[in-house]
Amino acid sequence: MPELPEVETTVRALRGPLIGRTITAVTNDWPRLLVTHDLEALNWQLGGQRIEAIDRRAKYLVFSLSGGDTLIIHLKMSGHLAVAAADTPRHPHVHTVFTLDNGRELRFRDMRKFGRVYLTADAETVLGGLGPEPLADSFSPDVLRARLNGRSRAMKPLLLDQNFIAGVGNIYADEALFYAGIHPRRRADSLTENEIAALYAAIQKVLTMGIEREGASIDLYTKPDGSRGDMQNAVAVFRRTGMACYRCQTPIQRIVMNSRSTHFCPQCQK
Ligand SMILES: [Zn+2]
Repeated sequence: MPELPEVETTVRALRGPLIGRTITAVTNDWPRLLVTHDLEALNWQLGGQRIEAIDRRAKYLVFSLSGGDTLIIHLKMSGHLAVAAADTPRHPHVHTVFTLDNGRELRFRDMRKFGRVYLTADAETVLGGLGPEPLADSFSPDVLRARLNGRSRAMKPLLLDQNFIAGVGNIYADEALFYAGIHPRRRADSLTENEIAALYAAIQKVLTMGIEREGASIDLYTKPDGSRGDMQNAVAVFRRTGMACYRCQTPIQRIVMNSRSTHFCPQCQK
């Protein structure tokens, strides 16, 4: 699933071709992708609105529109957004198409069809419950400590909880826990001050690295232009089961927690 760095990479690539463009129409052949409107209502409400800004919140793409509405897209498992000339062939897994005023279109391809499209006058109705943005200035070790305090859950599932911290998914949770030296089964309220500081730094490190490398092309993720990111070549533990830890040479182990595969070094992570 695209996580914070993959969605951020997508946002950055879409700003150039989309900001200032007006959406003239929408087509869709998979109604469940549209959460807030049926297709007719979406066309009526969205048509004629200009895209003024594109930002990211957690794993959501957030399009601010000239009419005051916000278009929000979640890529979920396999979603991919690209801008293409309207007269070029569409991939068979393109289900939603936003026609633009310049002969091009924004295409939402989604093989597994778990992606979601929202249009709302109040973005908080979709985004309001999310935890803090880990790369925002307002997120600090103190904020992390306060959020861990009193939590009995294991660290891995807690990091995946979007209400605890926004944007971290399976890849970056495993990577962050490795750099912090924390076992994925550790109880949140058992972390020491040093471990909290190390976890804060590790979250910053892996997400920043992921953005610099333009995402991890593991499974289906590619950039909007179809090219691959590079983070898959820089992972320390994720899907390196049985391979030597880069720090201590111990084989990386895989366990399943809450039905998510989890990778860690049994020597480096306590
Ligand atoms: Zn190790």
